[in-house]
Amino acid sequence: MHFTGRTWRPPYEAHSVIIQATSGCTYRKCRFCSLYKGECFCMSPMEEFEEDLAEIKTYQPYARRIFWTGANPFAMSYENLKLRALTVRDYLIKCQSMAMFASIRDIRDKEVWQLKKLRAMGINGLSIGTESGDDDVLALAGKGYTADDILEQCRKLDEAGIEYYFVYMTGLAGKQCRQLKPNLSLLTQKK
Ligand code: SF4
Repeated sequence: MHFTGRTWRPPYEAHSVIIQATSGCTYRKCRFCSLYKGECFCMSPMEEFEEDLAEIKTYQPYARRIFWTGANPFAMSYENLKLRALTVRDYLIKCQSMAMFASIRDIRDKEVWQLKKLRAMGINGLSIGTESGDDDVLALAGKGYTADDILEQCRKLDEAGIEYYFVYMTGLAGKQCRQLKPNLSLLTQKK
């Protein structure tokens, strides 16, 4: 299997087969995150992706769920996601769903009709590190989107019928959240 760098999956994907689709993160600007600081975002070459699927097929030919690793494989274009989803189905004929991490930005790049098609191909189960639903905390963390953005993009997923899970970071603002809020203006000024 072609795994590079650190590989993460949510605990609720413990029974999913794991395959690397991407490595690194497209964003790398969240102020609290050091996960992929020195790594570029890369898509696994299709040859490697297929070699891994062939290997999985030898020991789990009836795998029903597969988890694509990387901080946000959903950043890939609609065409690339489609190609990979259809290729998974070529190798793993019983596979019912493909899950992965995604960011709000990755959904924003896609039209609802594309999301519906991806859902029909088996992409279902996006883990989204929203971290918070509070605009001040989102700005403090440098997430790059607002609570309204989260709602707008997740409504598109609802319309497409794609399941998603939010990952929250409790206590992200810290004990001194109230004192930090005035500093948001400073952060904005520095940009
Ligand atoms: S999007 Fe996720 S992986 Fe990327 S910098 Fe933010 S928290 Fe880290």
